[in-house]
Amino acid sequence: METKEQRVEVKNFINGKFERHGQESLNVESPTDGSIITTIPLSTSDDVDQAVKAASEAYKDWSTTTLKERTHIFFRYRSLLEKNIHELTELIALENGKSYSEAKAEVEKSMELCEFAVSLPQIISNEVQEVSKGVECRTERRPIGVVASITPFNFPNMVPNWTIPNALILGNTMVMKPSELVPLSVVRLAELLKEAGLPDGVFNVVNGGKEVVEALCDHNGIEAVSFVGSTTVAKIVYKRATSNLKRCVALGGAKNHLIVLPDAHLEMTASNVVASMAGCAGQRCMAASVMVGVDNVQHIIDKMVEEAKAIVPGENLGSVISAAAKERIEGYITAAEQDGATILVDGRGATVPGKEDGYYVGPTIIDHVTPEMSVASEEIFGPVISIIRAKDLEAAIDIENSSNYGNAAAVFTQSGGLAKQVVERASAGMIGVNIGVPVPREPFSFGGWNESKFGVSDITGRSSIEFWTQNKKTTIKWNAESKTNWMS
Ligand code: NAD
Repeated sequence: METKEQRVEVKNFINGKFERHGQESLNVESPTDGSIITTIPLSTSDDVDQAVKAASEAYKDWSTTTLKERTHIFFRYRSLLEKNIHELTELIALENGKSYSEAKAEVEKSMELCEFAVSLPQIISNEVQEVSKGVECRTERRPIGVVASITPFNFPNMVPNWTIPNALILGNTMVMKPSELVPLSVVRLAELLKEAGLPDGVFNVVNGGKEVVEALCDHNGIEAVSFVGSTTVAKIVYKRATSNLKRCVALGGAKNHLIVLPDAHLEMTASNVVASMAGCAGQRCMAASVMVGVDNVQHIIDKMVEEAKAIVPGENLGSVISAAAKERIEGYITAAEQDGATILVDGRGATVPGKEDGYYVGPTIIDHVTPEMSVASEEIFGPVISIIRAKDLEAAIDIENSSNYGNAAAVFTQSGGLAKQVVERASAGMIGVNIGVPVPREPFSFGGWNESKFGVSDITGRSSIEFWTQNKKTTIKWNAESKTNWMS
């Protein structure tokens, strides 16, 4: 089967074929044991050019098929995701290191993304109006052309599916650049799209790193670039793509604050906060990173410690992505300790029997963090939560507002009035009330504020329709002979 072959050596997917043309290679490791699982080509601007040419050629037919025809392919694609869920889940776990149940939830979310996308024909309706006697105006949504999608390592299946179904059903063709750390899931998605009947050239994959991203941002044949990754790279991509006059939405990193009030439900809050910071080993852009404890929340912190101690790396906690990530995360914990914070639960030096070469960090709770410490303001992207104590809600909101990021924020309280103050004043795009990972579900859209997102629209849901389409405005005089009164 093609997949097994692909797993030995990942190839680019251009015009419906997997190809490799002597590009330099990069080894890809499994983060759970450090073994080499595959290699990817480090593609060049010539490879990008080939993919863009294939996508441009395919665009001619694809953009003129009906929404309904395009949608039918994605009904089949969704069924194939479901049929192959076990294999897709194992691929995610192999290349990303998250647990089986977390990986399975990712594929289920991809299926939900398809369910929204196949409903697009019901959502999109063009406008028609007789604007003057005998004269009609209509507005219709049209695709924009060849688009690029650049994705990160932390959701190898779901984040690619944030863009593929919506962009393609809306009539665009795509060149995707997956993270070089997790290339296998996208290979399998390409195979499933082909099996679902997607015509050759509509979806293409070019593997590699920075050089591929730069070539996508610079290529004249690309109309729009969507990016998901760190803020540093989001800024580079947003500036480069827009300076080349492309539309761009670039989602960046996060530093999500959870404000916990003393009246919050004890068990529910403790388990939500810990699950938010430790789920997917803290490698979620929606993960809790700072808990702002208002007044006396010691009882909740004690319960969180109990919960965190029940989390065992390798059992109910996956690995982090790489040796460099483990070193960075542990470095932040050490810096906090040196700065005078209290480490209540310490995940440094975690090892898993039989997987001693894997990159594991245990759950970590750091108390008495102050806003000047690096753990208070920088994205750690590991299973670590920093607790800052605040005297009242006003001070807690100020702390949340001072972050440069603005992906998510949440409040835990049983008071509707206090929760509403946080909902209104938190400076983040996605807010939770008694929910630690407030991901908006379809048809609501996903996207942060401040340095967590650059660009106008969100990346999923209804908002993404604006991004993936442009309006064509047509004015029609149906009968050349009829008298027209332009101003009637
Ligand atoms: P990353 O920024 O290192 O890489 C993302 C993509 O950019 C990859 O495809 C990579 O090959 C490419 N890239 C890396 N360096 C580049 C450079 N200098 N120039 C051009 N391209 C470059 O991100 P990551 O480590 O893969 O993912 C983790 C980050 O993504 C975290 O910061 C996380 O918060 C963020 N993220 C954000 C969201 C969101 O919705 N806001 C979702 C998922 C992940």
